[in-house]
Amino acid sequence: MQNIVIVGGGAGGLELAVRLGKKLGKPQKARITLIDAASTHVWKPLLHQVAAGTLDSHADELEYFALARKHHFQFRLGRMDGLVRAQRQVLLAASVDEDGVEVLPRQSIAYDQLVIALGSQTNDFGTPGAREHCVMLDTPVAAERFHRLLVNSCLRAQAQGKAAGEGRFTVTIIGGGATGVELSAELHMTTKILSSYGLRNFDPEKDLKIVIVDASPRLLQALPERLSTAVALELRKLDIEIHTNEKVVEISKEGVKMASGTFIPSSIVVWAAGIKAADFLNDIDGLETNRSNQLVVQRTL
Ligand SMILES: Cc1cc2nc3c(=O)[nH]c(=O)nc-3n(C[C@H](O)[C@H](O)[C@H](O)COP(=O)(O)OP(=O)(O)OC[C@H]3O[C@@H](n4cnc5c(N)ncnc54)[C@H](O)[C@@H]3O)c2cc1C
Repeated sequence: MQNIVIVGGGAGGLELAVRLGKKLGKPQKARITLIDAASTHVWKPLLHQVAAGTLDSHADELEYFALARKHHFQFRLGRMDGLVRAQRQVLLAASVDEDGVEVLPRQSIAYDQLVIALGSQTNDFGTPGAREHCVMLDTPVAAERFHRLLVNSCLRAQAQGKAAGEGRFTVTIIGGGATGVELSAELHMTTKILSSYGLRNFDPEKDLKIVIVDASPRLLQALPERLSTAVALELRKLDIEIHTNEKVVEISKEGVKMASGTFIPSSIVVWAAGIKAADFLNDIDGLETNRSNQLVVQRTL
């Protein structure tokens, strides 16, 4: 029986596993195996809502093991870190628990057909301070961390014992693409809701400043200009500050520095200014990749 292995159970890989499971797994025409580094799936476009707190990722996540049983495929937990094409084997790193105790040893999984669907991760282009001081919305864990930082900043602002507006803090979002734009609007809404639940001395209009910074001349660069203009207008109505044509050169604990010399003091910084594929794909047993480590494929994939 053909062994079809899909690595990465995201928007692409999970859908494929379910469909192949129904079409080939159920009638036992092929064995379908899905591998993912996590045991649950949260649809990535929901992560900015998890970050803002309008969505509970645990309520929305899907269990791979349960899906596999229901849709006639097998699930293997593991993080791919290599490939041996001559022997048709995917290599999975050993995994350890939070105490450093090994859960699964290093493994190799045999395949006849392999689908690599590992998605992307944030690309900080090596900007100094980005890794250390920015939240990158790549995973539910990162989105939840952002949310905790946000709630803590709101609590700090209201606990200052001062009048509303005196505990003001800034969330700076680097990258004015879809993720940055959606996150900024969602944040504005969340903090309004938070304050309506009784955060005394906290006025979202006065205490929270939301800033978007982008190196290109307009937000949503990939979309038509009239949409960028309309979105910028709406965001400014929400008092969201927009800096375009501003390249970020450094992030520190204190804030964000731009090439123009402008400095934005910031309590929380989110990096949403680009993506790349995992670094290990860059040199994966002779497969061709581009500058962002993405595997080069034909029109037929
Ligand atoms: C905040 C946010 C908002 C977005 N909003 C939209 C939107 O509104 N509309 C839209 O079209 N797109 C949106 N996107 C983009 C969209 O999420 C991606 O285009 C899509 O998820 C890509 O699908 P994928 O299957 O390639 O990868 P992903 O969905 O990212 O899935 C990759 C999977 O691979 C797993 N994985 C990664 N590395 C390994 C490894 N080494 N070993 C094993 N498993 C691994 C991951 O755990 C994950 O399950 C958004 C993205 C973000 C972050």
